[in-house]
Amino acid sequence: MPAMLATYHNHTTWSDGKHTVADHLSWCARHNVGELGISDHLAVHPSGRDQPWAIPTAQLGAYHAALVELAAQQEQLGGTVLRVGVEADYYPGHEAAIAQMLGDFEWDYIIGSVHEVNGFTVDMSAAAWAKLDPARREDIHRQYWENMRGLAQCGLFDVVAHIDLPKKFGFLPQSDLSALIDGALDAIADASLVVEINTAGWHKPCRDAYPTLNILRGCVARNIAVTLSADAHRSEHLLRDFFAAAQRLRDAGGTRIARFAQRAVRHEPIDDAIAGLEADDDPHGLDDF
Ligand SMILES: [Zn+2]
Ligand SMILES: [Zn+2]
Repeated sequence: MPAMLATYHNHTTWSDGKHTVADHLSWCARHNVGELGISDHLAVHPSGRDQPWAIPTAQLGAYHAALVELAAQQEQLGGTVLRVGVEADYYPGHEAAIAQMLGDFEWDYIIGSVHEVNGFTVDMSAAAWAKLDPARREDIHRQYWENMRGLAQCGLFDVVAHIDLPKKFGFLPQSDLSALIDGALDAIADASLVVEINTAGWHKPCRDAYPTLNILRGCVARNIAVTLSADAHRSEHLLRDFFAAAQRLRDAGGTRIARFAQRAVRHEPIDDAIAGLEADDDPHGLDDF
């Protein structure tokens, strides 16, 4: 039996998504999705304050319980399998607090992200990047990759989100970061983390999926497992550009796609993982901001 489509990095109204888990499930039923993972944002911020784009930390238990209940319902119904995930921010030095928050619950997978570097939110706006002086901009790029290495080494996560996120608005590093990037990829390989091809980047000003083809080649060369992610904030984006992402993975030399359950990874040949998927009609249109 061919495997069914799976999509794991997705947001709902529990954090900054536009649609509910139920909306996503009904879309999946209409589009032959075998596994739907929900991974709303968790930010155990060093300031102790909840972030407006993340699940309020006091609500994490309610979020988890709601997903577990829906997953049990789906199992009864026999439709799309629901996987219980979370996208948690990595803040260096705050590993213990993050671990404590995550450790209260059982997850199918935990996605690790770096959205904030030295107090600067790298994916917030082009205007914020434009205001930075060039030296500070370069510092942020460099520190980002240091944090990515820390994320890999801390042992809290299963998947690395949008690994080259600072390119989002097109403010690319001006110095050679290859040693830092290699260091992060080595740490990711050592920790057996999975890297995602995140298709949302094709719809941002950088007009490129995360990661670039070159970094993806570095992942494949290190035998790092890869999964396809839409980072969907709307139901109609749950499989966005997966066809193109699979092609990018082949271009990088990859042959298989990772799937998740109960914090274990298994692998499928690319063709099985995307069986039945058609090319997007209107690839890579720019999202609204
Ligand atoms: Zn993210
Ligand atoms: Zn996300």
